[in-house]
Formats: sequence, structure tokens, C-alpha cells
Amino acid sequence: MGLDIGVIGIGMIGQEHVRRLDGGPGGSRVVAVADADAERAAGVAAQLPAAKALPSGEELVASDAVDAVVVTSWGPTHEPYVLASIAAGKPVFCEKPLATTQEACRRIVAAEVAAGRRLVQVGFNRRYDPAHRALKRAVDGGAIGAPLLVHCAHRNASVPPHYTRDMSIADTAVHEIDELRWLLDQEIAAVQVFTPRKSSRGGELQDPLLLLLEMADGVLADVEVSVNVHYGYEIRCEVSGETGTVELADPAPVRIRREGAVAGLVPADWRERFALSYDVELREWVDTVVGGRPFQGPSAWDGLAAQVVSDAALRSLHAGGRVAVELPERPGLYR
Ligand code: NAP
Repeated sequence: MGLDIGVIGIGMIGQEHVRRLDGGPGGSRVVAVADADAERAAGVAAQLPAAKALPSGEELVASDAVDAVVVTSWGPTHEPYVLASIAAGKPVFCEKPLATTQEACRRIVAAEVAAGRRLVQVGFNRRYDPAHRALKRAVDGGAIGAPLLVHCAHRNASVPPHYTRDMSIADTAVHEIDELRWLLDQEIAAVQVFTPRKSSRGGELQDPLLLLLEMADGVLADVEVSVNVHYGYEIRCEVSGETGTVELADPAPVRIRREGAVAGLVPADWRERFALSYDVELREWVDTVVGGRPFQGPSAWDGLAAQVVSDAALRSLHAGGRVAVELPERPGLYR
């Protein structure tokens, strides 16, 4: 048995996911696409053996041909498509962020709780990256004793002109926010954002930013967000524990020694660095849906929790100071 999927929003990552899902794992096919740009949707559908371009995301969710929905449109548009999928009883994979306000995330959580079963998975792909999984195994296995400090960096070569100061947190650091909750198996209790000397490459952007996150058990995590580093895309994470440290290794496949220097390639962007994570993420999602198994991936609750922390960080960025994170009670569906 295969899985017939509809994809809403076929821009950069939407087209990446379509490529992975059509004729992909578990007999998945893309049978419908929809995009704000109807021509783009028609162009993508024309290249797929079984897909139709539908006039809207709402029609795609309602279509009898679609068993499961993938939402890869722009963040502020996620909520109505995710809510419609829950109402239709269809599994929905939604790219991060789940929604761009915590109120919208709460509405999604409430709808899923009312439905009484998990249908939503959020695209926090770090959890599927083999290097991040090895990092978590080392921490969970006690290889470095109790974790005390975490140092993360999220560096982009550049960002598009529409990228705003708030997106450094809501769109970029949100990956580390989820990663830290997952890696350390606990919630974030407070956050403070620091604004160091500005890079001359960032124009009006406040770039870089430094986030200091306090975990519930007192572990402190610092996150550098730099979005104009020019040299490539780099993700770092080092956990410092009572008896040792563990860090993500350099992802370069080869190291070149010549003319008195050592060099390794730096990935150009997230597509290159995290290609394998998207493969694993979508394969596991399809297998879970096809097998009728309970969802283990990042949930609507994880989407809400990340959004609450992101909002607290934005308050700190705008007004300064340490901001406590106040999460609602976690519903039983997500325990
Ligand atoms: P993008 O290239 O701008 O693609 C978004 C697409 O959605 C565009 O084709 C856009 O059309 C379309 N769209 C906008 N509003 C729509 C609506 N109401 N209904 C249907 N389609 C709509 O953006 P992207 O970089 O692919 O990002 C999409 C999402 O994926 C974002 O939430 C982003 O944060 C997330 N993302 C996640 C990762 C990851 O590593 N997990 C990486 C990249 C992106 P127009 O261009 O005509 O507006």
C-alpha cells in the first residue's frame, strides 16, 4: 500500500520535499500540489507522473485523492492548512515553524487534542540528522557525564532581502530552540538575547545575535546566530559535561592538505548540510503513516513550545533583559 500526498506551497523546500516524496519511500506519490503562484504549481505538477495542480490549499486538503498533506508554504499561512487537515482526519507534515504566533499554535494543539489522536508532525529536521542523533546518543549514554553547558552556532552565508531582524530568532534560532529541548529532554525556562557589534555585511539587520537559554535543570546554552558569514553554512553544537565534551564533527567528506594548509569544504546551504536529515525525516513520516503507527516525530506540542520560547526571545531582543518562558500545561496526548 502506498501513500498519496498533497503538497501545499512549492517554493524552495516544497520542491525539495516533492522530489523526495514522489516515487519515494513506502510507495509514496505526490498526487496534488497547490501554491499561491498557480503557474508554479502547474509547472511542478507537469513534471510529476500522477500530480494535479489544484487552485488552493483548502481544495487540496479536501480532495479525496489526497491521503496525507505536506505544508511547505510560508510560515504565516500554515495554521489554516494544518487545522483543515486535522478537521479532515488527515496526517499533516508541516514545515517549521508550526505557525508564527503562539496563539495559532495553541489553536492547532487544541484542535488535535479535541480530535483525540496525533495527526501533526513539525519539520524540525535536526532530530533526523545522523550527526545530531549521534550527539544525542552520546549525551543520553552518559559519555560525558551530566551536561552542564551547550555552545551552538547557526551561520548562514547570506539571507534574502525580505529577511528581517525577527526572523533571526523566529525562523533561524527556532531550530536550536527545538534542538536543545530534544537533546536535553527538557523545557527551556528563560532566555536572554544579546546584540553584539553589528556585521557591516548585514545592512539594517542586527547581525549577529547571541541567545542565552536557561534549561529547566540549570544547564546554560549559548546560541550564536550569524546570517551573513559569506564562507558557507555552518551548524555547530558542543555539549560540555562533568567528565568530557561531545561536539558535532566537521561535516566535510574529505580534508585536503596542500601548500602548507589543511582545508575541508563547508556546505553552501541547508539543502547540502541537511540533505540526509530530510531523507530520513520524510521516510520515517511516510512509514509511520502507512504503517498506522503512533507518531514519534516532533509534535504540535513541540511546535507550540518552540514558538513560546521564540516569542520570549523576541521580547528580550526588543526590550532587553531576561524573559521567563511560560508554557501552558502539556496535554496528555503529548506525554
Ligand atoms: P519559499 O521558497 O518562499 O516557498 C514558499 C512557497 O509557498 C512559495 O511558492 C509561495 O508562493 C507559496 N505560498 C505563499 N503563500 C501561500 C499560500 N497561502 N498557499 C499556498 N502557497 C503559498 O519558502 P521556503 O524557503 O521554501 O520555506 C517554506 C517553509 O519551509 C517556511 O516555513 C520555512 O521556515 C520552512 N523551511 C524549513 C527548512 C528546514 O530546514 N526545515 C528549510 C527551509 C525552509 P509565492 O512565492 O508566490 O509567495
